[in-house]
Amino acid sequence: MGNGIRRTSVDLRTDRAHGARIYDYILGGKDNYAVDRAAAEATKRIWPALPVHMRANREFMHRAGRYLATECGIDQFLDIGTGIPTSPNLHEVVQQVRPEARVVYTDNDPIVLVHARALMTSTPQGRTAYVEADLRDPDSILSAPEFRETLDLTRPIGLMLIAVVHFIEDDDEALDVVRRIIDVLPSGSYMAATIATDDFAPDMLAEVRRTYHEHGEALRWRSRAQAAQYFEGLELVEPGIVQMHKWRPDDPAALNIPEADIAMYGAVARKP
Ligand code: SAH
Repeated sequence: MGNGIRRTSVDLRTDRAHGARIYDYILGGKDNYAVDRAAAEATKRIWPALPVHMRANREFMHRAGRYLATECGIDQFLDIGTGIPTSPNLHEVVQQVRPEARVVYTDNDPIVLVHARALMTSTPQGRTAYVEADLRDPDSILSAPEFRETLDLTRPIGLMLIAVVHFIEDDDEALDVVRRIIDVLPSGSYMAATIATDDFAPDMLAEVRRTYHEHGEALRWRSRAQAAQYFEGLELVEPGIVQMHKWRPDDPAALNIPEADIAMYGAVARKP
């Protein structure tokens, strides 16, 4: 494949559910398989708010990206755990504000690679690139030619970790790999993240986790204190760490969503 997408052999593992494809199904996409739909429907039976929660996550990504481009002057982004393309993708959001913006997308699921062409629709002034890599191996991202050639490491970068760290179940490992990425970012960079939590509906979400596991997918909930660890050493922007639908909502009606329907904290923070 051209367009800056490297491609090796692809095994889509349609024998087990994938988070990317469950999310795609719930958001109304077509890039999912029977096992993903079964996992999504089983989860919805336990927790009917799943679509509300997942849409709120996508909307947080849009708001945080737009905030970084508009209010913080960020024009280059590293998006880890990109997901199956769903318009508007991050580059479409930020290039609307800054047509020259550059975005490096990363995911470890081969189905995202298969659809990565839909991410290569940059403005002529800007640029996008795709790296197939695993967050659990930060060096594979940081040493990738697509990363090095697309982003300027002497200027602030917006790191997006949206709905991804809950797929790394080991708490120490998840924190460690995120810190290793933050460490290479220059001062003035930002991190926007959503961190899955069961703080607002613990019983239902314990069942949700069991269902994900039964269908072959990982999922780890984290408390508010654990979510805060990801932002240690960074300066949180207002309103700090809140349920993601409460983070600078475009429409105040979002605040009417019951807390039990949203299983993610969201926050944006600056590296001093
Ligand atoms: N960030 C997007 C998509 C979230 S779905 C959004 O919020 O809209 C989560 C994505 O993270 C999936 O595409 C999944 O394949 C990817 N992912 C899960 N574990 C990963 C890992 N260890 N490294 C890289 N990507 C990962």
